[in-house]
Amino acid sequence: MSNAQAEFLKLLLEHGILIDMGVDGLYGRSGVFEDVVERFSILVAAFGKEDKAEVVRFPPGMSRSQFESSGYMKSFPQLAGTIHSFSGNDREHAALLAKMEAKEDWTEDQKATDVVLTPAACYPLYPAIAKRGALPEQGGLFDLYSYCFRHEPAIDPARMQMFRMREYVRIGTQEQVVSFRQTWLERGEALMKSLGVQVALDVANDPFFGRAGKLLSNNQRDQKLKFELLIPITSEENPTACLSFNYHQDHFGTKWGLCTCDNAVAHTACVGFGMERVALALFKHHGMDVRSWPRAVRKVLWGE
Ligand code: ATP
Ligand code: ZN
Repeated sequence: MSNAQAEFLKLLLEHGILIDMGVDGLYGRSGVFEDVVERFSILVAAFGKEDKAEVVRFPPGMSRSQFESSGYMKSFPQLAGTIHSFSGNDREHAALLAKMEAKEDWTEDQKATDVVLTPAACYPLYPAIAKRGALPEQGGLFDLYSYCFRHEPAIDPARMQMFRMREYVRIGTQEQVVSFRQTWLERGEALMKSLGVQVALDVANDPFFGRAGKLLSNNQRDQKLKFELLIPITSEENPTACLSFNYHQDHFGTKWGLCTCDNAVAHTACVGFGMERVALALFKHHGMDVRSWPRAVRKVLWGE
């Protein structure tokens, strides 16, 4: 935790932009904050409009069995969130209430449900598309938007436990997918520059768990499979990843049996927009009062 992170969080809470909920990384959002997120979402849609992506919306929970098949627990067990629920009888209910009353751990009797919290907006998409059968010749392009959960409690307001990710996901031949990512690398940079923030593009890696994860991280970096658009929020030296550009090669295609029209394993890529991070970057760069944001920025977001 840095002082700058704690101070920025304090400022956001004092201005009522974020609302304390008693847990690090879990916040209410003010109407003004939501308006910025919504306007940014509209801006993203405008940049992607010509591609005519298929809009698909999933709830912020996904099938536990699909989550198990996805391999998420191999790579990021530390981040996952599962949903548990009470499924006992009257006697067990009384025992549960007694434990709560005595401030003992009552949660150990909760049973896993069939639902887990969505870790990234694109996770429920792959099995759903695989069910449709082989892709058409032009492949698939999808527009997703979901709240996501990651168990990474932090003081840094840019590292939340529940946050929104807007994504475009491309599924198709290697060529289609690589060209999609290149297009969005350029669009993403232009889009963020139009909002008057300082951006830098860098090669990145996911926070794969444990010793085996180091190899995966190195491999991801060496092959330049992940890029991030970084914007300073609470530190100039360590700017925050606000947009991510991921090329999964045939990883999800193989996992879910996604096929191109000539029955080859499909490749996939996604571009993810961290909606809260982008909004926070804008408040950081332009101030807590949106009415005094630079004219050019207000024009891009609100058309004024
Ligand atoms: P980081 O390296 O900062 O943990 P990440 O590489 O794990 O991020 P992705 O998995 O690529 O992030 O997620 C897509 C986007 O979602 C990121 O570019 C970021 O903007 C946003 N994001 C990721 N984690 C968080 C979080 N804890 N709070 C808010 N936004 C997040
Ligand atoms: Zn994704």
